[in-house]
Amino acid sequence: MGIMNKLITQNKEEEKREVLRLIDVLHDENYLSRAEFLFLLKNISLDELEYLKDKADQVRNRVYGKRVFMRGLIEFSNYCKQGCNYCGIRAMNKGVDRYRLDKETILDCAKEGYRLGYRTFVLQSGEDPKFDDEVMCDIIRSIKSEFPDTAVTLSVGEKTREQYQKYYDAGADRYLLRHETANKEHYEKLHPESMSFDNRMECLKNLKDIGYQTGCGIMINSPGQSDETLADDLEFIASFKPHMVGIGPFLNHSETPFAGFDDGTINQTSVMVALVRLILPEVLLPATTALGTLDGRGREMVLKAGANVVMPNLSPTEQRAKYEIYENKICTGDEAAHCRGCIETRIHFTGYEVDMSIGHHKSMEV
Ligand code: SAH
Repeated sequence: MGIMNKLITQNKEEEKREVLRLIDVLHDENYLSRAEFLFLLKNISLDELEYLKDKADQVRNRVYGKRVFMRGLIEFSNYCKQGCNYCGIRAMNKGVDRYRLDKETILDCAKEGYRLGYRTFVLQSGEDPKFDDEVMCDIIRSIKSEFPDTAVTLSVGEKTREQYQKYYDAGADRYLLRHETANKEHYEKLHPESMSFDNRMECLKNLKDIGYQTGCGIMINSPGQSDETLADDLEFIASFKPHMVGIGPFLNHSETPFAGFDDGTINQTSVMVALVRLILPEVLLPATTALGTLDGRGREMVLKAGANVVMPNLSPTEQRAKYEIYENKICTGDEAAHCRGCIETRIHFTGYEVDMSIGHHKSMEV
């Protein structure tokens, strides 16, 4: 039983009733105690997961309708100075064919994205010191002046408060920085000694303080994760109230210390996505590319569990395969236009609608 046991076992009647009751309470009150979250995670089985997914889907339909927001992802550098134990592009992985896109290429990606209808660009990279504040601000300013009706989302890791402020002043609207886990001990298992849990949390607070629409998030089934650490994540998300939460399965990479560890599953991911939708009805929740890598229909399955964002790739086809945070990433050979069409078909097939608008968080709509 329970989320970390892949939800395979049948539940006793009494536990089933209590899990369903807790789902209803969460739906009505958007909050449970840590002990209740833990009970839910430990005792949910596949039957109750269906109930939970339906509830999450109803909430997302009530708040955002059937719309799925599209974000164009530009992975502009796979150089990274950090050594996260799960990540394929960590500094210590000497086998990575490193690349960085220059400003013109990044703007070309945005131009093609704009032509295809995208109104949000997500700029993601490893922590690459070559993109110093001046270069970053220049890129942000250029995108915003060439495409004023778009939002720029950054996902470039840990920076100082001053740096985050500079990017914000240059025009960046949103920032994604997954907290990875809200449990300090677990955080230390996932990261080298040079990185700290407290700094990660400080970064997130700074981002929100400055005024970014802020996204945190976790991988599912990362080594050392347990129902207990997931309960910590749910508590953290309930109190931090991020605008976005990125939740995807951990996928082990053979050139990392976590080679051979078990990947997360679609069902485990669905549990967490659906719970977050019930905690924060207005949250923007992506159906991640990692889900599509795990299972051909993974993203569609999580759209039905309360997710409402997808992030198709706009990076140049030649470089895509090199941004290998996990292996066998999907869509690495496809042109941007192809990705756009492919995901649209999937969204329609699942019963939802593509929304190409700027797609701000509900609280930011004017
Ligand atoms: N350097 C940026 C972007 C990192 S990549 C940053 O630090 O925020 C974005 C996310 O991909 C990470 O936060 C992590 O949660 C996820 N990720 C990295 N390696 C992964 C893996 N092996 N499997 C699944 N997700 C992974």
